[in-house]
Amino acid sequence: MARKIVILLGNPGAGKGTQAKEIVRRLKIPQISTGDMLREAMARENGLGKEVRKRMDSGFLVNDATVNSIVAERIVKEDCRSGFILDGYPRTVPQAETFQQYLDRTDRLFVIEIRAEHSNILGRLVTRLMCPSCGEIYNSVSRKPSQEGSCDRCRLALVRRSDDREDLILERFRIYREETFPLVEHYRKTGCYHTVDGLRPIAEVSRDIRKIVDCEER
Ligand code: AMP
Repeated sequence: MARKIVILLGNPGAGKGTQAKEIVRRLKIPQISTGDMLREAMARENGLGKEVRKRMDSGFLVNDATVNSIVAERIVKEDCRSGFILDGYPRTVPQAETFQQYLDRTDRLFVIEIRAEHSNILGRLVTRLMCPSCGEIYNSVSRKPSQEGSCDRCRLALVRRSDDREDLILERFRIYREETFPLVEHYRKTGCYHTVDGLRPIAEVSRDIRKIVDCEER
């Protein structure tokens, strides 16, 4: 079966996680968030977890080989048979080159850059809250949960990410610019690249993304 594969690119805080969850609901394909998988590894406190913590707590990227192997193992699972959404991967050109080797000729690839300049989204990140169980993203200013401080679905207490600190956020923006943004040029050449304006309300951004992924052509 031809897989539908969606890669979401965008600055930290551009809305990749939020929009990935919308696409999951619509296309019934799983969200693969390397950030979530690495946070789970970190929580296990083993050798890999300690290494990941060191990198994440400084705002740096985890090394390509580690992330590539996590993704390679995940995308062969049964629930990825019809496709998947990559949220936070690839994040470097070498990761994109490795990922290319995981693709089949029949796959339909959509690379969508959610464009949002960092000067406009710093505020979103310092007020961001996350459910530690389902990963749903809230915001204490613009996307409040119905009951203050707890997830609408899981009812668990929302948490702030340890790397959503202003100094680390600025470092993550720098890393995005230097290491991840070159992917825009990389994918623009391939004809599967699209861009949406991530500064508009969530529902409008979702509508634009829907128009792209509902299209059957590559
Ligand atoms: P995210 O949840 O996508 O913002 O990712 C949080 C952190 O996880 C990043 O700042 C990196 O340290 C690490 N990370 C997530 N995805 C990747 C990736 N594809 N390559 C390297 N590091 C990653």
